[in-house]
Amino acid sequence: MPLTISSRACDIGFQRKVREISGQNFGKCYQCGTCSGSCPMGEHLNALPRQLMALLQLGHRERLDNANTPWICASCHACAVRCPRGIDIPRVMEAMRQVQLRDNVDKVDLSKLTPEQLAEMPQIALVSGFRKMTS
Ligand code: SF4
Ligand code: SF4
Repeated sequence: MPLTISSRACDIGFQRKVREISGQNFGKCYQCGTCSGSCPMGEHLNALPRQLMALLQLGHRERLDNANTPWICASCHACAVRCPRGIDIPRVMEAMRQVQLRDNVDKVDLSKLTPEQLAEMPQIALVSGFRKMTS
């Protein structure tokens, strides 16, 4: 999908907040793709970690808001241990979640789960889902 770069699409404030919360300088990313190749969740992501870093460098809020990457990231650290630039990518994912959750964006809705799903779902999955995905 082509990427439109404009002052409307790019939000430097969002970029700054993610940098501050994560403590990571994603500007150092040189797009080698090692993180994307290491990610066990890659097939489920609509923006691979390498692409997310590029979008963050641009501050492309429009595309970042639509990226499922921070929500699906399993925080396994496979990307972080291999990044030649030493970027702690899971920390960046966590910061992106924090910024969006502070805007009262909830990514799970308990009321949409059926009683059968609730009965079958491990309690720990429910608790971790709520901690990770609700504001
Ligand atoms: S591994 Fe590091 S330098 Fe390479 S694309 Fe990923 S974040 Fe960028
Ligand atoms: S920490 Fe997240 S982005 Fe990095 S490899 Fe694991 S699942 Fe993928």
